[in-house]
Amino acid sequence: MSQPADLELASVSKKYGDTIAVEAINLKIKAGTYCCLLGPSGCGKSSTLRMIAGHELVSDGDIVLGPRVVNDDPPAKRGTAMMFQSYALFPHLSVLDNVAFSLKMRGETKAVRHERARAMLETVDMEAYAERLPAQLSGGQQQRVALARALVTEPSILLLDEPLSALDPFLRIRMRAELKRLQRDLGISFIHVTHSQEEAMALADLVVVMNNGVIEQSGSPRDVFNAPRTKFVAQFIGGHNVVPVDGGEISIRSDRLKIVDPSEPSSPTSLAGTVTGIEYQGSTVLLTLVTEQAGDISVTLPERSFFESPMETGEKVSVAWASEDAHALA
Ligand code: ADP
Repeated sequence: MSQPADLELASVSKKYGDTIAVEAINLKIKAGTYCCLLGPSGCGKSSTLRMIAGHELVSDGDIVLGPRVVNDDPPAKRGTAMMFQSYALFPHLSVLDNVAFSLKMRGETKAVRHERARAMLETVDMEAYAERLPAQLSGGQQQRVALARALVTEPSILLLDEPLSALDPFLRIRMRAELKRLQRDLGISFIHVTHSQEEAMALADLVVVMNNGVIEQSGSPRDVFNAPRTKFVAQFIGGHNVVPVDGGEISIRSDRLKIVDPSEPSSPTSLAGTVTGIEYQGSTVLLTLVTEQAGDISVTLPERSFFESPMETGEKVSVAWASEDAHALA
């Protein structure tokens, strides 16, 4: 069985010529954690994942897996497994042989290979498709096979590079739930690269927000959402407003703003503005205001409270917040 292992990145950097892709990052991922590396394109997520996998060498620092520094170990020796975005299945091999492939490389007998591959196909609910070729499967089914193929080596950590991005939105949400279930059942860490804050929030025990090769913030999704540390995090995870105040900036969640009478005197915890947009979103209504002090501001109102006193674009309104809902940004 898989042996769950702790992972530590100690001041790890990656340079490609003059490009610094990852700059001295420090991160500890306890065994059995669902970790999402989250950030915009080019921020260094995949480079970080590939260094953990051993598909890229570190330029500096140490990767510590369990008790060992694995910097110089080839991928197959690390005990990690990687699932790629493209799934990379062999088109001429059956589903069963695709899953059994890495066991063949390890010199297992055919009987052992097939037994373990079948058990893994059962785990991902694909045992009925063992004899098919990859081209005879849907995208979601191919993804399950790719997962089985990565997991059959019994890795201590599974690495996933944008695993859901090729799926349609409906399937993406379904597979997301299955990944989480699988991770819980296996008890190993999954490290999942994504640029979708929604995906990271839904899946992660530990979300690591990256920007320009550094970690801006890491923590539980709730902690990161409730108290973004920097302006970048507040803007990237969405649902927040950044407001300049004396001596710095604060962030306030869009759903923590209240509409107040614009004739009220202004206060340090209110902003006057003009409604520029109204978007009906079902259970909520998203208002956009333009303000002099903070530019565009978004306000999320429960749909009932919006329709109790509806507003129109062009209307002058003020928004206010409780001081405990304002978080200072670094
Ligand atoms: P992400 O996965 O967040 O999109 P990457 O880790 O792929 O980011 O890339 C980080 C930075 O390193 C980018 O500026 C990218 O252009 C650069 N980069 C990535 N791979 C290579 C490579 N093989 N050679 C040169 N530069 C690279």
